[in-house]
This record gives sequence, C-alpha cells and structure tokens, in this order.
Amino acid sequence: MTPPPPPPMPTGRFAPSPTGVLHLGNLRTALASWLSARAAGGRWIIRMEDVDGPRCRRDLGEAQLRDLEALGLTSDEPVLWQSGRRGAYRAVLEVLHEADRLYPCACTRKDLLKLASAPHAEDGLRPYPGHCRNRAWEGFDRALRLRLPEGPVAWQDRLLGSQEDDPAALTGDPLLFRRDGCFAYHLAVVVDDGAQGVTEVVRGADLRPVTATQIRLQEALGLPRPAYAHLGLVIAPDGSRLGKRGGALGLAELAARGVGAPEVVGWLGFTLGCLERPEPCAAADLIPRFDWTRVPKGEVRVPAPWAT
Ligand code: GLU
Ligand code: ZN
Repeated sequence: MTPPPPPPMPTGRFAPSPTGVLHLGNLRTALASWLSARAAGGRWIIRMEDVDGPRCRRDLGEAQLRDLEALGLTSDEPVLWQSGRRGAYRAVLEVLHEADRLYPCACTRKDLLKLASAPHAEDGLRPYPGHCRNRAWEGFDRALRLRLPEGPVAWQDRLLGSQEDDPAALTGDPLLFRRDGCFAYHLAVVVDDGAQGVTEVVRGADLRPVTATQIRLQEALGLPRPAYAHLGLVIAPDGSRLGKRGGALGLAELAARGVGAPEVVGWLGFTLGCLERPEPCAAADLIPRFDWTRVPKGEVRVPAPWAT
C-alpha cells in the first residue's frame, strides 16, 4: 500500500497590486500573513498582482518590495509577477470552456450600471445579474464570465468563524477575461494560489465578499481550498478609509514624521495581539507571540500623531 501523501507545506502569501504605495492596512496584512505562515513553520511568498492593466506599474511593485523588506518581510521564492502568466491563465480559460462554464458577456459599462440594482451588494460591489448567460460561444476574444452553480457557499474564516455567502448576491457570475485582453483578478488570484500551493489566504476584510465566488472557481478547477482569514481594515484617525492613492500612510511618509520601521512593526504587532503595548521590535520577535485567537476582529485606527 502506498502511504498517504504528506500534508502540504503551510504556505502563506501576500499579493499586492502594484498600483501605489503600501499603506498601513496593506502592511498589516503582509505582516499577519507572514506571522501566520512562520508561526506554523511554513513558507511565505510575495506575488505581484499586476494583471489589471495600466494602473499597475513595475516601479511601484519594486518600491512595495523594498518597503516589505524594510519591515523584514522577504519572499521565500522569487516574486511571481502575474503579467508573466498570461499563457497559464489562457490555458485555464480553455479548461473552463471545455467544461462549458464560460459565456461571452456583451454588456457595456453603461448596461451594467443600468442592470445592477445592488440591494445585497456589500462595499460597492454590484452583482452581475446574468444578463448574457444564454449567449452562444463566440470565441476567446470576448469578455468571458464564469457560470456559477446555484446556492450558497459555506466556508471557515480563521478570524471571523463560520461564514456563508451566496455568490450570486455578492458578485454574480464573475468576469474572468475582459474585452480589452486583460485577465481578471478573480481568475489570476485563484489560479496562482493553486499553482503556488498556497494553503492560507490572509487579506483585508474588503475582500471577504468575493471569497465565495473564488471558492466556486477553485471548485470548477478542482483546486484545493485554502484557509481564509479576513482582517479588519486599518482606518485613519478620523474613521475614513486609507486609500492606496493619495493621502495614504506609507513607510516613507511615516519616516518623514520620525516613525521608523521598528516602530511600525511594533505597532502592527500590537494591533495583531502580539504585544501588550506598541513598542519598537523586529518582525521575527513577533513570531512566537502570534496566535489567531488573539487577533482582534475589528477595524484598527492609525495613531493620531502618525496621520497629522
Ligand atoms: N491583489 C489584491 C489587492 O491588492 C489582493 C488579492 C488577495 O489577497 O486575494 O487588493
Ligand atoms: Zn453581459
């Protein structure tokens, strides 16, 4: 008898889009995913999600990598840039087409705004109402959507506990390929988490509403389901959301205010339940103190002196 295969190596990842400076919310996600992987004796990788057209820039990605390194967070494997993965994504579209899971969507942005009344949508997300579901196949050069099976998806969140969502009410059939030739976020993220053996997805709570949809895509591709943890967002002292563009709090801005990397790591560690009080430290100091049961679920406010 062949022995059962060994369990996969715990693998965490941080997958920023290189569209701006990493702010404290992004950095908190990066540190939490790193700590969770390291505390489990696993590996941690960085992936650059630069599929999303002209807003993604190589130089912004390189700057993000430097900021992560300044916090002590470096990828165990060469950083994967999704812009180099078009062939893999195309192959996956072919598999989904063979399984009759794709259909062309001819809706314009204007149509979608008209069609989408969004009573259940969270966070500005508008579910696609399935307008084009019965359109005949017209080839791979059209905008393509995944036909979702009906019904809710139940999943476990390390932080939030049992979750159940109906992806039809949150995203509707997700767009996987855009008319402009770009592969969409949902496709790239699911394909690469699978290809890279990611066992644990730690990310901001703003992405919680797309999780059920991504699980459906994993199922369609026969990929294993990673564990999920959705962190409360980091908000400005006045309660507003930190943006990646403009007015975001990044390491350079903080350094200009006299706040150095060890202080940032200490504050982030404090907000993740690793320290009793914020005190300067190195990321590695936090590994033995990291425990999901001690991570607070809610939003976290940036200290006022850091933002003024
Ligand atoms: N690239 C996405 C973002 O920066 C995150 C993807 C993910 O963590 O699943 O918002
Ligand atoms: Zn459509």
